[in-house]
Amino acid sequence: MRRLCLLPLVFALTCAESQPYGVEIDGEQIPVIDMHLHPGDWDSIPPETRSYLTERFPFPFKLNAAKLAAGILSPSGIVEELDAAGIHAGVLFAVYAPRTVGIATNELVIRGVGQYPRRLLGLASLRVDRWATDSASQLARLEAALSKEGMIGIKLAHAHMHFRMDDPAYFGIYELAGRLGKAVYLHTGSSPFPGTSREPAYTDPTYLEPAIAAYPQTIFILGHLGYDFANRQPGALEACLELARRYPNVYLEPSALGSEGSDPDGENFKKTFERIKESGVIDRVIYGSDGPQSPGFVATYLERTVAAMQAAGYTADEVRAVLSGNFVRVFGREWLIQ
Ligand SMILES: [Zn+2]
Repeated sequence: MRRLCLLPLVFALTCAESQPYGVEIDGEQIPVIDMHLHPGDWDSIPPETRSYLTERFPFPFKLNAAKLAAGILSPSGIVEELDAAGIHAGVLFAVYAPRTVGIATNELVIRGVGQYPRRLLGLASLRVDRWATDSASQLARLEAALSKEGMIGIKLAHAHMHFRMDDPAYFGIYELAGRLGKAVYLHTGSSPFPGTSREPAYTDPTYLEPAIAAYPQTIFILGHLGYDFANRQPGALEACLELARRYPNVYLEPSALGSEGSDPDGENFKKTFERIKESGVIDRVIYGSDGPQSPGFVATYLERTVAAMQAAGYTADEVRAVLSGNFVRVFGREWLIQ
C-alpha cells in the first residue's frame, strides 16, 4: 500500500514520489496497525471533558475546537490521520461512559467499519450503570454488535464506567468474549479525565487476576500498561508485566502513556519498553495510540513509540512484532498490512 502526499499543490513537486506506508527500520519497511482510536460525537461528550480536550488542541486549533473535533473524530477524519501517519489500519472503540468521557455507540463504530472495511475494525461496548436490572439485555445487545463484520472485541474502562475489576457480577462479559472468540480491551491505570474512579480496584490490573484465571479462552488486553496518568508515573506497570508472564491470555497495549503530555521527556516510555524486553513479553505487546485527540497526534505518537523502542534497543523484528505482528497473530486479517 502507498500513501498519497496530502500537502498543498505548491509543494506537490517535492512529494511527487508517494511515501510508502509503515515505518522504516534498518532499511526494512515495517507495517503498522493502531489498535486504539476514538470516533465520536462532540455533542455527547460531557462539558468538563470537552474543555479538558480543548486545552490539549494546539493553537490555533483550539479556537474552533467543536468544528475541528467533529471533523477529526469522524471515520473519514480518522482515516485521514492514519494516512498522514502512514498507518495501514486502525481499530475504533465504542465507549459507554456517560459520566466521564461520553458515549460513542456500537452503531457509530459499526457504521465507520462498514464505510472503510479495508482500513478500520471495531471494538463494541455496553452500558453497566443499571446492571442489576438490565445485564441480560446489555449482554444480548453486545453479542449482536459483535456479530457484525469487522467487530473484533469488547472495550471496557472500569475507572470510567465505575465497576470493580474483581466484581464477579460482571464476569459474564468475559465469558461472552471467550465464547465468541473476541478479545477484551481494558483501560488500566488512573485516568486523567474528570469524574473517574481512582481507587485500586478500578485501576490496578492485579484486581483482574480472578477473571483472567477464570476465563483462559478470553484474551485480556491491558490498556495503557497501568500508567498512573494523574502523577505521570509507571504506576501498575510491574503488575501488568507479571500478569503477562504468568498468563498466556494476557496482552499489553502502550497507548497514551508516552504522549508529550503524559511523559514529556520520553523517559518513562523508554523505561517501559526496557522492562517489557527484560520481562520477555515483547510477543504480547499490541500497538495503540489513543488518538485521534488532535491533528497529527496519531503520527506523533507513532514516532515517539518507535523512538522509545529504539532507545530501549529493540531489533527490527521486535519493532515489527509490536507495531503489527502480534496484532495479526491474535486477530488474523493479515491482508490489512499488505
Ligand atoms: Zn482511549
